[in-house]
Amino acid sequence: MKAITFQDIRSVSLSEVSDPVLEFPTDTIVKVERAAICGSDMHVYHGRETGIDTGTIMGHEFTGTVVDVGEDVSNFKTGDRVLSPFTVNCGQCHFCEIGLTARCVESQLYGWRENGSGLHGVHAEYVRVPMADATLIHLPDDVSWEQGNLIADIASTGYFGAELAELKSKDTCIVIGCGPVGIMAIKAAVYFGCENIYAIDGIDFRLEFAEQNGAIPVNYLKENAVEKILERTNGIGADSVIEAVGSKASMKTAFDILRPGGILASIGVQAFDQLPFSPPDMYDKNIVLKAGRCSSRSYAEKLIPLVQNGDLQLTDVITHTFDLKDGVEAYRFFDEEKDKCLKVLLKP
Ligand SMILES: [Zn+2]
Ligand SMILES: [Zn+2]
Repeated sequence: MKAITFQDIRSVSLSEVSDPVLEFPTDTIVKVERAAICGSDMHVYHGRETGIDTGTIMGHEFTGTVVDVGEDVSNFKTGDRVLSPFTVNCGQCHFCEIGLTARCVESQLYGWRENGSGLHGVHAEYVRVPMADATLIHLPDDVSWEQGNLIADIASTGYFGAELAELKSKDTCIVIGCGPVGIMAIKAAVYFGCENIYAIDGIDFRLEFAEQNGAIPVNYLKENAVEKILERTNGIGADSVIEAVGSKASMKTAFDILRPGGILASIGVQAFDQLPFSPPDMYDKNIVLKAGRCSSRSYAEKLIPLVQNGDLQLTDVITHTFDLKDGVEAYRFFDEEKDKCLKVLLKP
């Protein structure tokens, strides 16, 4: 089959690789119908996260059709439409039981193989899904491949961020980073009824998108974001910040912009060693810091009905779709943010 594989920093290639096969009786094989390129694929692409094996199939966001099932799989059969969260989980451990599937003791991330073990990714024609009964979710007929794809990661992650922020209607909530996850956090904040949502980014087309989705745009390259929010809140600061970047600079802005007692909900994949504020800084401001990977297996189940009844409109973030065979160009296109590109899908 065809797949987009990691070769080196800033180098992926369209490769001919062997089709995945059932390795365990709890596996399924899924034909990928839509896959998406995620900002965190770019961490690998840019070498901000290292250690991944050359030849690993990239990608972790997809929807598809079941084409083969292991003998111990009972919830799925050939022909079923499915979405998969971006990590797989066992469904039996303590963390699965409490809904923290991202921290399942058997958890693995698609598209991450290191020293010969781990899971291949989904930027391919087919993918092996381990622990299929616990990992996969049936995709209802009235939820499109594209909607399912977004629910599988970025919509869940954005919603998770808004939930961590404990939003109330009169709150001032700041979303830092208006990439696809930040936009999804804004959509969730609007859904939660938050009336004062500010979006901080340095790219105008992303801010326009944030504004269309209900946030007040702040371009930090053109104005001082911290001063602006303090001014708008009578010197108090924001009640919560959803940090959707994962950089030291955005964490510093988040800290400075929060009011005493505010909540910093960090959902960006963190790629630095030390926080730009100290434990005494946190003590002196009574900050609540929450962070981590979204348990999208749990959140996807919550989001499917919200998409079905129209409470959450997601697909406007999909700005471009490429054929899988043009995947190398799609990575370059996404990386360079060409043509106001926000979210790129791949279609095998
Ligand atoms: Zn993702
Ligand atoms: Zn588990």
